[in-house]
Amino acid sequence: MQTRFSDEALEQPHIREADRILRSCVHCGFCNATCPTYRLLGDERDGPRGRIYLVKALLENPDAGDTVIAQTRLHLDRCLTCRNCETTCPSGVEYHKLIDIGRAEVEARGRRSLTERVFRSLLRRSMGSSRTAGPLFALARGVRPWLPRSLQEKIPPRSVAPGKRPPAGRHTRHMLVLEGCVQPGLSPNTNAAAARVLDRLGIRLEPAPAAGCCGALDYHLNAQDDGLDRARANIDAWWPAIEAGAEAIVQTASGCGAFVKEYGHLLAGDPVYAERAAVVSRLTRDLVEVLRDEPLDTLQAADGRRVVFHCPCTLQHAQRLGGAVEAVLARLGFQLAPVADGHLCCGSAGTYSVTQPELSRKLRDQKLKALEASGPELIVTANIGCQTHLGGATNTPVRHWIELVDEALDPAETHPSSP
Ligand code: SF4
Ligand code: SF4
Repeated sequence: MQTRFSDEALEQPHIREADRILRSCVHCGFCNATCPTYRLLGDERDGPRGRIYLVKALLENPDAGDTVIAQTRLHLDRCLTCRNCETTCPSGVEYHKLIDIGRAEVEARGRRSLTERVFRSLLRRSMGSSRTAGPLFALARGVRPWLPRSLQEKIPPRSVAPGKRPPAGRHTRHMLVLEGCVQPGLSPNTNAAAARVLDRLGIRLEPAPAAGCCGALDYHLNAQDDGLDRARANIDAWWPAIEAGAEAIVQTASGCGAFVKEYGHLLAGDPVYAERAAVVSRLTRDLVEVLRDEPLDTLQAADGRRVVFHCPCTLQHAQRLGGAVEAVLARLGFQLAPVADGHLCCGSAGTYSVTQPELSRKLRDQKLKALEASGPELIVTANIGCQTHLGGATNTPVRHWIELVDEALDPAETHPSSP
């Protein structure tokens, strides 16, 4: 794709990066075929190729008027950042980096309405901390029966209590784990189950108490500076354990993992944090990357339940780990039913279900139909966002896949009672 940036514009790092990405696109349009919003809306501007053109037009025209900015924002806001288009693209276009540049540009050039700004700020502040997210969801669960159905669906069902974590200091192999912001309140058993399973494999899994939200929530709501501040705070929180020999930083939520793996890129220009951010990204592993390298034949886990797996976009498209969980579960003896259109997003996408409720609901309903086609007893996934989004709209329990493994390994010690 040809670009028309002036030499002066190209002196800015973000324009140089946008120029490089734009030039890699051959505008073939293959990506439209797998874009969930293009499939739903049929509008070129709601597909990846159209959004790429919108960002290009905006960046090339510093004098773009309010209408152009508002239209560009509308179509960029509708993008799920699911990155399905990147998996499909034959030219390796780094779409997510371009859309981040486009979103920051839109935000810098025109303010949103006051209502929208307040709403997005509240969303970031309430969801970006386990101290506020947990109590908020607990309160919402208490009044759930009296709310309209559309709101009930947004409130996740009661979570499974966390069973006992293994005693600290039992093994010399040591890995950090991110607790995150919403997961401790919504699914406290996920990290406890991961710690128990890794304990059986001789690995100690411990959180760094000062680490918090990975920053993805802020970053993708266009508060990019706040998102980077959270990244810096996490790097500081993890650094002493890294220096003490922690082997990896394990992520049990694929959304957080995808973002922490980007710290190195996002902080590359930071004179203080660039080097440490690169180390943190290099050490970051999704839980499945840890388990697949371990001798799983020592564990006999399968428990005969009918299970399906929903692969989050952040696992298959962002981290390119599609099929990895299925392979680990198969090695442990589980038989998963196939799921049609497994590459498509469930509509959770961070805060998308709140900011774009209609599109999100359509995607969720399509996904649940595909997942439940085989009549499963349990749906497992790898990201807390997908887990709660899907779980709010079905009677089939939706859990993290590590809970399934944990329960099958030792049903007496863990807490298999489903919500
Ligand atoms: S598939 Fe890749 S190269 Fe083709 S239009 Fe989409 S982003 Fe551009
Ligand atoms: S990230 Fe997802 S929603 Fe956005 S353009 Fe790509 S495929 Fe479409």
